[in-house]
Amino acid sequence: MSFQNPVFIPGPTNMPEALRRACDMPTLDHRSAAFADILQPAREGVRRILRSATAEVFIFPATGTGGWEVAITNTLSRGDTVLAARNGMFSHRWIDMCQRHGLTVEIVETPWGEGIPADRFEEILRADTDGRIKAVLATHNETATGVLSDIAAVRAAMDAAGHDALLFVDGVSSIASMPFEFDTWGVDVAVTGSQKGFMLPAGLAITGFSSRALAAVETGGLPRCFYDIRDMAKSYAANGYPYTPAVGLLNGLAQSCEMILTEGLDAVFARHARIAGGVRAAVTAWGLDLCAARPELYSNSVSAIRTPEGFDATRIVTHAADTYGVAFGVGLGEVAGKVFRIGHLGMLTDVLALSGIATAEMAMADLGLDIKLGSGVAAAQEVYRSTAAPMALAAE
Ligand SMILES: *Cc1c(COP(=O)(O)O)cnc(C)c1O
Repeated sequence: MSFQNPVFIPGPTNMPEALRRACDMPTLDHRSAAFADILQPAREGVRRILRSATAEVFIFPATGTGGWEVAITNTLSRGDTVLAARNGMFSHRWIDMCQRHGLTVEIVETPWGEGIPADRFEEILRADTDGRIKAVLATHNETATGVLSDIAAVRAAMDAAGHDALLFVDGVSSIASMPFEFDTWGVDVAVTGSQKGFMLPAGLAITGFSSRALAAVETGGLPRCFYDIRDMAKSYAANGYPYTPAVGLLNGLAQSCEMILTEGLDAVFARHARIAGGVRAAVTAWGLDLCAARPELYSNSVSAIRTPEGFDATRIVTHAADTYGVAFGVGLGEVAGKVFRIGHLGMLTDVLALSGIATAEMAMADLGLDIKLGSGVAAAQEVYRSTAAPMALAAE
């Protein structure tokens, strides 16, 4: 018998059966007409999920990290400066990638648990009178700390400073699970991957480019080949790929977009908010704190939970895996050992979330933390039973 529990890591997420099946395809000739019926609906679905009327969507066989590289290598040139806040492991890694590509990064060091300081960005951009800064990098949802930053505020800061840098947004753990407004926020490149909000296996880097970003591709660029969107665009125009596409994953993506858009983006976001609300109620009942410093920073896709001083939070993750066969996320980088993470994005229901909360409780109690069994579960139950939409209605 196989013991298949849901996972509570912030990606890869649990997968709906229909999407698993959609990825499992017999071999299809990617040069045949049938491929267009997979490729174009996937691109169109992503564009709609980005809430853009005009973004050009480019999808590479890679992961979110590859998407970062797509963004920077296609638009920036050696020696260019970019502005970024470092407030967690993922923003750190994108900064590191920029530096390894010979870019200068103006780093705003930000406490882990805080969001992007838009006011600092505005000051820095105002002072950049000779336009050294070519792009602003923003990690929308810092998956390491469970902090959601305000991208509209970043855009407003750029506009207030009258600066014309491009705005690149890492939406890997926000897109398709929390509101993301490509057009309204004036995003120039959005980056995500297949294994988070899209509920698919890892393997696709998904990007959207604005017309301004596309114009930058014509005048700049770092050495690139595999990630060159000019080759991609040329191939897309002929319903093809510059190399062998991950056909099954693209088929999964087309189906995923349809599933998400059929549920309705607002309904998807509301479901994530409800589920996250239950998890946060549990954390409060346990007497623990989130890594995120304030409620307006709370992420609806992942909660990073601080454990008492002197206790190694990673033990919870190891113990839950070894004893109960349930996966939670460990703390990364600066918060390693200080937090554990409950991922709550993608395919989750109230019932699945309750099982994760119950397991976390058992693991913490087993390890001697002062956690009353059932306290977090009860708090989450109260949230879920008072906000639940009947499944019969939800299924319509
Ligand atoms: C998961 C994640 C990434 C990296 O994605 P990979 O698919 O692992 O390469 C980047 N940024 C954020 C915010 C993420 O959550």
